[in-house]
Amino acid sequence: MKTETIRHSLAHILAYAVQELFPGVKFGIGPAIENGFYYDFDTNTDQHRLENRLTQITEGDLHKIEKKMKEIIKQGISFKKEVVSEEKAKEIFKSQPYKLELIEGLPGKTVSLYKSGGFTDLCKGPHVKSTKEIPQDSFKLTRIAGAYWRGSERNPQLSRIYGIGFQTKKELETHLLKEVEAEKRDHRVLGQKMDLFHIDDEVGPGLILWHPKGAILKKIIMDYALREYLNNGYQLVDTPHIAKINLWKTSGHLDFYKENMMPPLHMAEMGKEEKDDYQIKPMNCPFHIAIYKTKIRSYKDLPIRYTEMGTVYRYERSGTLHGLVRVRQITQDDAHIICTPKQLADELFSALKLTKKILKDFGFKDFSIYLSTRPEKFVGTPKIWQKAENALQYALKKLKLKYQTDAGGGAFYGPKIDIKIKDSLNREWQCT
Ligand SMILES: [Zn+2]
Ligand SMILES: [Zn+2]
Repeated sequence: MKTETIRHSLAHILAYAVQELFPGVKFGIGPAIENGFYYDFDTNTDQHRLENRLTQITEGDLHKIEKKMKEIIKQGISFKKEVVSEEKAKEIFKSQPYKLELIEGLPGKTVSLYKSGGFTDLCKGPHVKSTKEIPQDSFKLTRIAGAYWRGSERNPQLSRIYGIGFQTKKELETHLLKEVEAEKRDHRVLGQKMDLFHIDDEVGPGLILWHPKGAILKKIIMDYALREYLNNGYQLVDTPHIAKINLWKTSGHLDFYKENMMPPLHMAEMGKEEKDDYQIKPMNCPFHIAIYKTKIRSYKDLPIRYTEMGTVYRYERSGTLHGLVRVRQITQDDAHIICTPKQLADELFSALKLTKKILKDFGFKDFSIYLSTRPEKFVGTPKIWQKAENALQYALKKLKLKYQTDAGGGAFYGPKIDIKIKDSLNREWQCT
């Protein structure tokens, strides 16, 4: 049986257990997710909300709910499918406002239900035939969190109970152990313990404050990287952090990258002599191109390789920010190579070789490599894209690197090779 089927069935059993323990509870949704499942519950009525007398399921209830789930599993309850008319379904769920809303949104005239013991849910399945198929000791409720109905802040907040579930007790234990290890290695915890950096509420989310030890560490890494670039024929450049908004129009960023850019700086408001608004940079490319364009270049000057420890600013929704991994300001060891079409393949080969060397110097030997090809929105012609994709393939093959193709995963301005490194727990992180 598929693990996902077990997880999905566990979500039903969780809801059944909560129904038994909290009579009158309203149900949201309860899907299977990575490593487990969740279910959303509302223990409040409109009256509760009006009187601001909210009751919530708490962390302390999880043990009790888990015990109830085990009782239900032991009973060997079967999952029975029933297909009913929309009217019948609305009758069955008449005291379940969230389910009624879901029924409204369903296509077709009939509704598929699953009944397990005293609990009926809107569902297409599949499930286990009987709860006897679920080992009692291979799941665990892990936490509870607030979640808005349908993810919108305008809707009521429900209590989301998370659980993890596996085929065997051993798998569950291995997973829990791995989580403990991951927690010990959480870079946000280590960063604080080792006094390397912090993120400050008063400064803002996604913005890193490097402490003395962290700042010197960062400097050592940057110096090392720069030395490698200089040794490999790159020239150091240094460019502004803001530029006229029109530059980003010309570069295509405003058309293709706007949602990742910070809002514009309204410089024109400063007075009549200021004619332009400005944009804080999300990338360094237009500046490097501006340096290249200051002279008439001969093909004999090529390739020209510019590098910069370029600090860029990206708009990331606050909910997606995470430690040093997802931030709003990042310094990248950026480089741009200007070359003739003939030089392209060899330049890519050298760049990839240098990347591999640098990652190896940091102790990373195990990579997952992806070749990301032309996306739906792109600049340039399909022909030039094909040429670029071929050159990337050539470099990968020449270095005998195994890779997978991520069709349509390229950036708007070109195809790319993504290199993910693996950490001590075998988790993948995109680094290049
Ligand atoms: Zn189901
Ligand atoms: Zn660039």
